[in-house]
Amino acid sequence: MTAREKAGDKYVYDFAEGNKELKDLLGGKGANLAEMTNLGLPVPPGFTITTEACKAYLATGREPDGLAGQIEAHLEALEREMGRRLGDPQDPLLVSVRSGARFSMPGMMETVLNVGLNDRSVVGLARQAGGSVGQAASGGSDRFAWDSYRRLIQMFGKTVCEVPGEEFEHALDEAKRAKGTHDDLDLDADDLRGLVETYKKIFAKHTGREFPQEPREQLDLAIRAVFASWNAERAILYRRQERIPADLGTAVNVVAMVFGNLGPDSGTGVAFTRDPGSGAQGIYGDYLANAQGEDVVAGIRNTVPLQELERLDPTSYHELLDIMARLEGHYRDLCDIEFTIERGKLWMLQTRVGKRTAAAAFVIAGQLVDEGLIDLDEALHRVNGAQLAQLMFPRFQLDHDFEAVARGIGASPGAASGAVVFTSARAVELAAEGKSVILVRRETNPDDLNGMIAAQGILTSRGGKTSHAAVVARGMGKTCVSGADGIEVDVPAKRFTVGGHTVVEGDVVSIDGTTGRVYLGEVPVTPSEVVQYFEGSLDPERTNDALVRAVHRIMTHADTRRRLAVRTNADTGADAARARRFGAEGIGLCRTEHMFLGDRRELVERLILAATDADRTDALAALLPLQRQDFVEIFREMAGLPVTVRLIDPPLHEFLPPLEQLAVNVAVAQERGEDVAKEEALLAAVRRMHEENPMLGLRGVRLGLVIPGLFAMQVRAIAEAAVAVTRDGGTACPEIMVPLVGAVQELETVRAEAEKIIAEVVGDSGVEVLIGTMIEVPRAALTAGQIAEAAQFFSFGTNDLTQMGWGFSRDDVEGAFFWRYLELGIFGISPFESIDRDGVGRLVRIAAEEGRAARPGLKLGVCGEHGGDPDSVHFFHEVGLDYVSCSPFRVPVARLEAGRAAIETTGSDSR
Ligand code: ADP
Ligand code: MG
Ligand code: MG
Repeated sequence: MTAREKAGDKYVYDFAEGNKELKDLLGGKGANLAEMTNLGLPVPPGFTITTEACKAYLATGREPDGLAGQIEAHLEALEREMGRRLGDPQDPLLVSVRSGARFSMPGMMETVLNVGLNDRSVVGLARQAGGSVGQAASGGSDRFAWDSYRRLIQMFGKTVCEVPGEEFEHALDEAKRAKGTHDDLDLDADDLRGLVETYKKIFAKHTGREFPQEPREQLDLAIRAVFASWNAERAILYRRQERIPADLGTAVNVVAMVFGNLGPDSGTGVAFTRDPGSGAQGIYGDYLANAQGEDVVAGIRNTVPLQELERLDPTSYHELLDIMARLEGHYRDLCDIEFTIERGKLWMLQTRVGKRTAAAAFVIAGQLVDEGLIDLDEALHRVNGAQLAQLMFPRFQLDHDFEAVARGIGASPGAASGAVVFTSARAVELAAEGKSVILVRRETNPDDLNGMIAAQGILTSRGGKTSHAAVVARGMGKTCVSGADGIEVDVPAKRFTVGGHTVVEGDVVSIDGTTGRVYLGEVPVTPSEVVQYFEGSLDPERTNDALVRAVHRIMTHADTRRRLAVRTNADTGADAARARRFGAEGIGLCRTEHMFLGDRRELVERLILAATDADRTDALAALLPLQRQDFVEIFREMAGLPVTVRLIDPPLHEFLPPLEQLAVNVAVAQERGEDVAKEEALLAAVRRMHEENPMLGLRGVRLGLVIPGLFAMQVRAIAEAAVAVTRDGGTACPEIMVPLVGAVQELETVRAEAEKIIAEVVGDSGVEVLIGTMIEVPRAALTAGQIAEAAQFFSFGTNDLTQMGWGFSRDDVEGAFFWRYLELGIFGISPFESIDRDGVGRLVRIAAEEGRAARPGLKLGVCGEHGGDPDSVHFFHEVGLDYVSCSPFRVPVARLEAGRAAIETTGSDSR
């Protein structure tokens, strides 16, 4: 608060007063214009109205006290500096009014150029332009003035007064058609004067008033429109998707106009200081002669590569290159730049640290370290786990003639090809035939779930990153492109159309869930080099792949920095081996469920159906050596790294055939007169064991307490396996984890039995077995102080903790209503994707603190899927856990983010 109070009610800053650190107050554009001004670069003079003024306006619906006066004072100063008055009929000063928030944000009002022109000053502008080049060019300067005026009416109408932009565009096309041309430049001063009249009529028709002639009114209306655009619907949607806070407000920049449309020696362009696609060094940009800024982006005329400017205007070109080098050195990063040349004089209109692809982010960070501009900590700070995860997916190999036919939102990454289907049922049918399919819908809903499971990828024409399709696909790890609004889906006709193509059921398409691009046909896929590197098949010291070298270097640094250890969730020796190559330092969750499946089902059925103690003991005794062998393999693979084994967790009826199937089997067998005793017994067991809420039923530790000998068999298998590995000269560090504990007594009971078995098995072999618990029931978190008395470690099961903390089951809710919760902003992101810090996270924090208070040095880890989520890793670092455990593929992401968390002591800004 003090900073704000000290600033008093200062709402307007001259460019000379700001700097690049003031983005919160001046927005990105304003802060960087100020920075460039103070570097002595050629920036047209101007001033910035702060985000505080915007917030005050939005809160009260009117400009805050003092704002009008401050704008007046700064405008006067600008007029003095320029030697011209705003909209002066004889010799007008013109300005641009530009929005610019903390984060660049499509959907907000952008820019109005040429503010200050009216029916009289347009004549003054022509004279002004003509005066400086002599009489001969006055025809050209008339043209320039009317061109500028028509642009003002068009931009002002569209962005300030919401006049539909197409109407202006149609009128412009019409004027060109009348003239028999496709090029704006063929319109002369008279044509443009006529166009201004047409534009004014369009303006009046839609707004019910004449185009404002008073320059100061134009300025004030434009400023107000920028403020209001913060709350435009598209801006709100965009913020929600990108998780940008809703209360930042936008700044407004008022900048003296310079003119790129004064003739062939003028122009405008954009440039990058490095290739934002690959990170390669060089000159990347586009230039358009005789044009004003918006023409470059609008694609009205064809731009030329920036290198051409060397021929057109060598002086400006070399000055621009010098400035670009200076900006890179100053920002120590890739910059993007907007500039204009007015009759051979270069002006800088914008710069910012440029957006880049995931690959470029790593490559550039590595290069900047080499160039001595940043250190490795800074390089680590500048990349993130989401980018790394992107680089680990296979990619489409696009060096053929594949051109995207549509572009939507990259809603769930990956590269998928398959035959197009339009219904869930058809997806299931074709998938059953072994075909890979892409489910195409306008939007998906819960009825599409089976189809989504069957499909290789999902493509929708509506909806954003938080639509049903997007949320469910991410939950399933499936490739998804949503909101590809270029495609027109016709489900009844089983086809879609896109840019003149018709795609019918069965045709093959390819979708890229990272870029959102859609291709016709099957695009070949290349594996990720980054994965090859992690797997050990690409040597970072030998490859000349700049990306692999950069990833290697930054990962190595992350490993030296991080405090959190990274383990993996792996149930088999093969998974464990792969995860170790990815850098896992142990297994944080080895599920034992699969050890009851496959050809062991029969033994499990015997166990469940056991009529006597002896039957049950027999069944368990038969399972024991099989499980022991599973553990031997895993312990060998992990070679002395810790392995946390979770005792059996799911309800036992999950191991039996479904009720309907059994009922049919029994009926059929009876019909045939076969012996159905066993089937009937199974059916009865299934009926008996039916649960309304299996997730909250007889599972986890409850099974161990109810079924004699079950946990004992598992504990024995673990201990015997560890001893066997040790006897063979290896090392094994098992940690036995009891699931679903809610009360210390549960754990004590299991532990007492387990310790007896362990002591008996281990003898003097030197093997040490820890016993700990999952913390996944809210009550366990809240009584962690008691539970810690009986536990040698805690492992947070944040999936269950999230389900039970919120009281919903993931399988039921992700498809049913999450989209609505995301839309309403109840969630910023699904709590299964990223930990809910305030609620579920609070349970983790309480348990960590109280557990450690009761037992100093208590080992703490997490084994839910959150262990591989970037934001969640930062949270677990903050809370002081010892390790995170995640799926093998996520291990590198967790390593990177754990390193980043360790160096980011202050609030991070990785956006
Ligand atoms: P955006 O955020 O959409 O890039 P800008 O505010 O940067 O919007 O404006 C778009 C373009 O308008 C700029 O790149 C520049 O070419 C042009 N422009 C803005 N202000 C001026 C000015 N004062 N003089 C000349 N051109 C300008
Ligand atoms: Mg811009
Ligand atoms: Mg669980």
